[in-house]
Amino acid sequence: MARVLFLGGLGRSGTTLVERLLGELPGVCALGEVVHLWQRDLRDDERCGCGAKFSACGFWRRVGALAFNGWHNVDVDRVHYLRDAVERTRHIPRLATAVEAPEEVHEYAEYYSRIYSAAHEVSGARIVVDSSKHSALAHVLRWSGDLDLRVVHVVRDARGVAYSWTKTVDRPETDGTQQMTRYSPGRSALLWNAHNAAFGLLARRGVAVRRIRYEEFVTDPRAALAGIATFAGLDVGPADLDFVHDGQADLKVGHSAAGNPMRFTVGRLALRRDDSWVSALPPRQRRLVGAVCGPMLRAYGYPLNPSPALEVAR
Ligand SMILES: [Zn+2]
Repeated sequence: MARVLFLGGLGRSGTTLVERLLGELPGVCALGEVVHLWQRDLRDDERCGCGAKFSACGFWRRVGALAFNGWHNVDVDRVHYLRDAVERTRHIPRLATAVEAPEEVHEYAEYYSRIYSAAHEVSGARIVVDSSKHSALAHVLRWSGDLDLRVVHVVRDARGVAYSWTKTVDRPETDGTQQMTRYSPGRSALLWNAHNAAFGLLARRGVAVRRIRYEEFVTDPRAALAGIATFAGLDVGPADLDFVHDGQADLKVGHSAAGNPMRFTVGRLALRRDDSWVSALPPRQRRLVGAVCGPMLRAYGYPLNPSPALEVAR
């Protein structure tokens, strides 16, 4: 049974950073956002984290051969149909309360479990990491009978998330022709509530969920990684964390199938807590997001007024 660490949360919460650092631990194979593999890799042949086109990456070739007898055997239209039918945020209440899931949920989950099992075997890793983030996918995977599913729920201050969604970011895998999606602060505030609540619901359904805050993760990544390793059942000693030192991390080449541009970073990565929203998010938008997300921000331990120390430090 493949053990899968699913990184969940609303986009721009730091999941790619968490995944990159987890991928450096012995016994871990990080796959990127598998949810986007069907379109971006199988259809569009975008680049893997190793820099090769997906179709030319040896790792993914072996995974495809083992999982499906070759990627050409995957009916991408069918995957897209299933995704629309079962993996939408609006389906979460049904997925969370059903006594038995419809056949289509099992069929969709099967596509993922085959990839996880194959990656597990090809890499020899004890744990595979999927940073797909989507809460609806996590709820679908709960129904898979052949996965040991553990979820790391990454939370970041809603105002930092909202500010990040307003920024323009190029997608390097498209060679400058496309940019990452943008949302208004009002829209991302609503999504922040919905997605984070969905992971709380998943925990109440008995799935192993560990919540971490992005801000704490970046402040003390070694301690945070050790905590996640224990949660995932990995034996990690202090020496295994030596790639993180002096506020930076040394990253090797990975095979992330899709995700934020940081998946291409190799070598030294500065680990800096990004609080730029404190000065850059306009006060009106900051108040709007604070009002919409107030109850859950408080529940997660975020001050509604960021500390004066943070303001002064800027
Ligand atoms: Zn690759």
